Amino acid sequence: MQVSSENRSGRQKLLSDPKTRELLRRLIMENKSLAPDVGPDGLIHYLVAEQVIGDAKATEAWIDEMTKDGILKKGAYKELVTCPVHLRADPQVQLECAKCKARKMRKTTLVEHLYCGYIDADSKFDQGGFLVCPNCKRPIHRADELRSSGGWYECQNCLTKTSVPKVVLSCRDGDEFGTNDLRLAAVYTYAVEDSVVAQLKNALILAPALVELLSSAGFKVMSPATLQGRSGTSHTVDVYGEKTGDQGTETNDVAIQIAVDAAAVEPSAVISFFAKTYDLRPKLAILITIPSASEAAKQINEGYGITLVEDSDGASAVQKVKALLDSAGKAKTQ
Ligand SMILES: [Zn+2]
Ligand SMILES: [Zn+2]
Ligand SMILES: [Zn+2]
Repeated sequence: MQVSSENRSGRQKLLSDPKTRELLRRLIMENKSLAPDVGPDGLIHYLVAEQVIGDAKATEAWIDEMTKDGILKKGAYKELVTCPVHLRADPQVQLECAKCKARKMRKTTLVEHLYCGYIDADSKFDQGGFLVCPNCKRPIHRADELRSSGGWYECQNCLTKTSVPKVVLSCRDGDEFGTNDLRLAAVYTYAVEDSVVAQLKNALILAPALVELLSSAGFKVMSPATLQGRSGTSHTVDVYGEKTGDQGTETNDVAIQIAVDAAAVEPSAVISFFAKTYDLRPKLAILITIPSASEAAKQINEGYGITLVEDSDGASAVQKVKALLDSAGKAKTQ
């Protein structure tokens, strides 16, 4: 998953929006796609997205933007029948008698008595709760003595029979239309692109998990955190936590950066984090490298004092950071 730096910065911009982060986080955590639904207004909605993004129009624009950037990909596809006037996708379907226009068609199933070959409506075989062939008068004991051989529709008004009744669709806003006039709306599901799941997973799931860890350990936490260093320059790190020691005098702080790559993380990630931590001087500077740190990255870090945490997929990174915090706490009390 090598993401070009240009693409990455465009993505970073999109991902800095809190609503975008929240929605993608939900989709990835719940391993879900955005699926179309028909809302109470009869129109097509992406309800999970609308809960976060706002109304249908904003959601549509959001999906469009995410798809263009390759963060979402189009998945399964279907055509929904809609009213030609209101585009409602919840028409009621009725069957109409071609002769008298009544909508009182009754469906009848034809069955054949295999023994004598007689065919009639299934209701004709019912003799006061017992199945009896109306032709040969033999009682029928097992289902396999009968064979279903199709069905027809009978108008309860004029008794006209047909096997292909007229289909009438009615919109809940009052239109009626036939199969010639209906419209079809193409709707898709959208899934988070596989190649960006790993990147997002760590930005959207690992960072919040670290925030929770630090908060529960009594830190005041920011994520992402923009802080002013000693030089006066501002630096942004993924997670920053600060707490005042037991004596109320000493401040304990930790800065955490997450670096994700397809292969071992390169020295540039270490150098860029060092440029920040050198200026910010946190007590503990942790660089989480997923899946690992390259040898060159480890070597260059020797003089930097950054604590490297390597984790193959980010799943155990929180545990590893917790262990670091615990051992840092113990070292202090000894
Ligand atoms: Zn309509
Ligand atoms: Zn009729
Ligand atoms: Zn029979």
